[in-house]
Amino acid sequence: MSGSAYDWIDQALVALGRVHRYRSVQPLEGAAGPVVQRQGQALVNFASNDYLGLANHPQLAAAAIAAVQTYGSGSTGSPLLTGHRPLHRQLERAIAELKGTADALIFSSGYLANLGTLGALVGSPDLVLADQYNHASLKAGARVSGATHYDYRHGDMAHLEALLKAHRHRHRRCLITSDSVFSMDGDLCPLGEMLPLAAAYDAMVLVDEAHGTGVFGPRGAGLVEHLGYSGYPLVQMGTLSKALASLGGYVAGPQPLIDFLRNRASGWIYTTALSPADTGAALAAVTLVRQEPERRQRLWQHVAALNQGLDQLLDQSGGSRVKRLPSTSPIICLEYPSAAAVLAASQQLQGLGLWLAAVRPPTVPTSRLRLTLMATHQSQHLDRLLAGLAQLL
Ligand code: PMP
Repeated sequence: MSGSAYDWIDQALVALGRVHRYRSVQPLEGAAGPVVQRQGQALVNFASNDYLGLANHPQLAAAAIAAVQTYGSGSTGSPLLTGHRPLHRQLERAIAELKGTADALIFSSGYLANLGTLGALVGSPDLVLADQYNHASLKAGARVSGATHYDYRHGDMAHLEALLKAHRHRHRRCLITSDSVFSMDGDLCPLGEMLPLAAAYDAMVLVDEAHGTGVFGPRGAGLVEHLGYSGYPLVQMGTLSKALASLGGYVAGPQPLIDFLRNRASGWIYTTALSPADTGAALAAVTLVRQEPERRQRLWQHVAALNQGLDQLLDQSGGSRVKRLPSTSPIICLEYPSAAAVLAASQQLQGLGLWLAAVRPPTVPTSRLRLTLMATHQSQHLDRLLAGLAQLL
């Protein structure tokens, strides 16, 4: 492409490499699980979103195969045309029951669910107020909607209130958006403070439960359930791709909200419906979330054990430049002073057979090792991780 209008792309790639931000894909061989194979090496997997360890569960595989045998490989159209099957409706009902909402709508991905929902609920006369650490799909949704949008400082409800005070009266509708469990930090949305503020300023609230569903709450419905707000008129969005080990997204909430999205969310109307296999697998996963609470309990036991181990480790290595970010979830992050340092750390851990994600700007403001726990990890996996980190720190 040299000498062409595309030269800038080569230059941009070189620039990304120079600042350690060049990304490449590393395929895994074989099945998902707490131990995975990459380039022939067995790695204990601390980089997966499969919190409950369902991605390789025989019931999900059987449900996906049965769905393909019954309905075919593709859904063949958008939901309002040929794409919608009884299986899709069954999944929507199952999600609504899990969440304790009147209804739910399934999208082809969580990203699209956020894009479609924001685009439907707000437009140019409206205001979106968003946590600064929200997922990229919520940020994209706010931009695409055409609404005026401002970020409040991460988790800072005083800042949210100041923005409501300053701007709310100038706009028709207002939507507050937040991850429930912050995907790159592991801390939680202060819903208990946010909901009264939203009510006082006549604002809607969209909570992204991508990392909360299946993980939080007595029934695994998410952080909203865990904090006791299941009955609130919220927009509860989530993904089928993490604890539910499939692919797709959903919005759950009051009936008029779901009916409205079915009519106005372009990210649902103008895209092909979820494949039968993904739909069947997600439905089997929702059933297991409800039937096997012991998976969730095991996951939280691992969270407690690892945190205890990390406390000891960080105490012993007092002078380390590595800082643990506050987390109350199975997502735990160790902050490093630079992108180069975090890359070196993750490579060193890979040499020891441990796989943790090195997350760098611009995805996050500061470089960090991000580790996630799964119900199917064994205590020896955690011991190996702590021993590996001890070598590093
Ligand atoms: N929201 C959050 C908080 C996420 O972490 C993700 C996935 N990384 C999404 C939305 C998008 O979901 P999906 O992968 O289903 O597109």
